[in-house]
Amino acid sequence: MKRLILLGPPGAGKGTQAKRLEEVYGLKQLSTGDMLRAEIDSDSTLGRRVESIMASGDLVPDHIMVEMIAKRITQPDCSKGFILDGFPRTVNQADELNQMLTNNKLDLDAVIEIKVDEEALFGRIQKRAEEDGETRADDNVLVLKNRLEVYHQLTAPITPYYNDKGMLKTVDGMQDIAKVASDIDAILGL
Ligand code: AMP
Repeated sequence: MKRLILLGPPGAGKGTQAKRLEEVYGLKQLSTGDMLRAEIDSDSTLGRRVESIMASGDLVPDHIMVEMIAKRITQPDCSKGFILDGFPRTVNQADELNQMLTNNKLDLDAVIEIKVDEEALFGRIQKRAEEDGETRADDNVLVLKNRLEVYHQLTAPITPYYNDKGMLKTVDGMQDIAKVASDIDAILGL
């Protein structure tokens, strides 16, 4: 049983590592980005509401995200633990998460920041955007720039927030995927 948060900018490899932790250890990946995309795919009221926000790279309002996660962390599929991937994304979300964990008597085992070189990262995501190729690559690059700006402004302050609580661990996300994975396992004692 492990409960953890993965932090890091878009493209750092949070999803890759979360999926691996789910496959190998049965910890449930809770990706708020995936949940929102599923809402859009099913054309729900929420999906219609968040579609343009996501397309621009801005953040969906905190109360929506907090409610979404609050509903998930106590579900039976999280009984072996969970990985928060993409949440919290603001200090306010982190505060709300603390509250809901306390209310449900749940502890976090770790907050792991996957640290990457921003320029290398930009190249990595740009490549991914070009490979995906559905929309114009320029649009994707502009959205990516906005996503990184939003990350710096609103999400990066979460790192010192958890550091001050003595919970933050950092791994070097520029290593190959297997090494990042083994560093994460070592932190978790897996
Ligand atoms: P991701 O797949 O994690 O990169 O998320 C894709 C998009 O979903 C983000 O750019 C945001 O628009 C939205 N999103 C995902 N998680 C959150 C969150 N915790 N708070 C606000 N917006 C979010």
